[in-house]
Parts: sequence; structure tokens; C-alpha cells
Amino acid sequence: MMMKGLVAYPNGDIQLEEVPVPKLGDNPYAPDDVLIEVEYCGICGSDIHRWKADKTGVKTSPRKVVVGHEIAGVIKEAGPAVKNLKVGDRVVCEIVTFYCGRCVNCKEGRFHICNTLPPMEGRAHFVTGGGFAKYTVWPAKHCHKLPDNISSREAVCIEPTAGSVHSVINRLHVTAGDSVAILGPGARGILLAQVCKALGAGPIIVSGLERDVKVRLAMAKQLAADYVINVEKEDIRKRIAEITGGIGVDVVIENTGSVEPIDESLDIVRKGGKVLWAGGGIRGGIVAPVDTHKIITKELEIHGEISQVWKDWVTALHLVKTGRVQLKPLVTHEFTLDNWEAGFDLAATSPECLRVAIKL
Ligand SMILES: [Zn+2]
Ligand SMILES: [Zn+2]
Repeated sequence: MMMKGLVAYPNGDIQLEEVPVPKLGDNPYAPDDVLIEVEYCGICGSDIHRWKADKTGVKTSPRKVVVGHEIAGVIKEAGPAVKNLKVGDRVVCEIVTFYCGRCVNCKEGRFHICNTLPPMEGRAHFVTGGGFAKYTVWPAKHCHKLPDNISSREAVCIEPTAGSVHSVINRLHVTAGDSVAILGPGARGILLAQVCKALGAGPIIVSGLERDVKVRLAMAKQLAADYVINVEKEDIRKRIAEITGGIGVDVVIENTGSVEPIDESLDIVRKGGKVLWAGGGIRGGIVAPVDTHKIITKELEIHGEISQVWKDWVTALHLVKTGRVQLKPLVTHEFTLDNWEAGFDLAATSPECLRVAIKL
């Protein structure tokens, strides 16, 4: 049996082609595997960076494979060892599914940074295939049942919510009353702000460009931010100093993937504060000058983050289910798989677009 799938190639090309429908038992997860009929799959920033002209430095698929990792679907078939799910369950899929289980990081529960496997090889959507196709096979232990009050369309944003939980809670240990600056108001930036707000952190400040003012910064303000800053009109260092009484924020989360915010983040964080640089991750990292004097004399904690672990998904689903994090406003557009190219174009260029959901 064949189906249409959006296939990524090692040279960065992406195209819609006929691929075989995956079968239970034919994959490394069996017998704990499920066949999922995909309902929606979101277009992530990392998908877009593998696609259009400027692919400099972009880490791409190591092999020809159906991509797409923001998956929501229904279980069609379950392998003989599956205990936690049954046919008909709606699920979302964790992205890290391959790891050794024996290295120091796996033993510490940080299987997403397994020492034995490079990042791309740890992810099902780069190995056995992802969600930009009607069917995908996933390990049951890395699927989560969707609560009834979360629609499959909005559920494409559970994955970036789990990533935001990973950054805010797991990496930065943000707590109530922490002041947080989030640089970059994409879907991820708005989710980070919502997770911070759910924890009782504040003030929460979200920055963006002129093009972000109308939709993205407005939505950040509406859903979570106490302040928004247009960095093309206002001096972010001055504004943060004003807001924090000259001290700086407790936590900065950089989510832009641009060079300037790296140095900005070191200036707007308070002495003894925490900084997380994450934005470059979607394109395979960036190279930016770092003034170590600022880190040294302020005794800063500098963090990285990549993907998520199981508990981050549990927390993300709880926050969405209980209305503390809202996903519906973030899924601004929907396209069919046949029309994927228009969806990718929109996601790559439109400041009015936050998340495109591809309907399978
Ligand atoms: Zn993603
Ligand atoms: Zn390992």
C-alpha cells in the first residue's frame, strides 16, 4: 500500500511523493508499536529552515525520510505488547524515541541528550518517518493520549508546549515571581510566555520586531505578557532597566535565532541571573560573539535546551487541558498535504502566521 508523504532529502530538498504505508512490526519499536492515522501535523520552524534558499549551516535530514514531528492522530492498530493505548485513542507523539538507555544521560532520565546517539538519529521523524503523511508508526511508550477537551488541530502545538515546559521548568527552574524576558514572539515565544505565566512568574516581557507588532506581540500581550517591546522602536536595554528598577530580569530566554539578542541577553539579565539561548536550534545553531566578561562578572548561568522528555509532555498536556496554556489562537492557518508548499511559504514569510497545521 502506498500513500503521499512529504519527504526530506539530505541535500535539503523536500517534496511530496508516493511512499509505502508503514506497517506494525517492520520497525525497531515492535512489538510496542502503534499505527497512527495522522489527523494534523504542524509546520515547525525547523521544517522551514530545511526548505527554502538559505540553507547555510542548517542541519538537515541524514537520509530520505517523511518528516513532520508535531503530530496528532488516532490509533488504528496496536502491536501485541502495547498496554497504555488502544485502537481509537487520539494521541500526540513525543519526538525523541531512539536512545541507548545505558549512558550517563539516559540513566539520569535525560534520554533526549543520549550520549551514544547524535540528535537527529534520536528522533523518529528522521529515522522511521514522521507525520507529513496519512500514516506513521510510533513507539506506544512515547505516545500520550489526548484529553477530550484538546482538539487534534490545536494539538499540533503540544510538542512546542512540551519544549517550552522543558526550557522554563526543566532547564531554568522558573518559579512564581521570577521576572522573565522572552526574546522572539513566534509560536514558541508565546508558549514560553504562557508557561511562565502559568507558574506565576512575572513580570513577563516579550520582545519582537516591527513586523511582529500587529499579530504576534499583540497575541503575546493578550495571552501572557505584561509588557511587549518593539526592539526597532525602543531600546530593549533601557526598557528592561525601567521595568526592573535598573536591576535586570531574573531570566532571559532567547528564541530568535539572530545574532544581536545573544549580547542583549547578557545585558538585560540581572547579576546572578539565568540565560537560555534556544533560537538558533531550529537552523542548526548560530555563531555570535560573546563577551565573557559579562558572564564572569555577573556570575551568569548560561543554558541550552533541546527537545523534551516524557515528564515535559505530561506537564504540557496538563497545562493545556486545564486552560492555563491556550493553543487554539496559535494555530492560525490550515492547509492540505497537497497544498503543503503554500503552507510552508506562509509559515516562512508571514508575520501574521504562528502555526500552520497540515490536515492529513
Ligand atoms: Zn518543532
Ligand atoms: Zn544513552
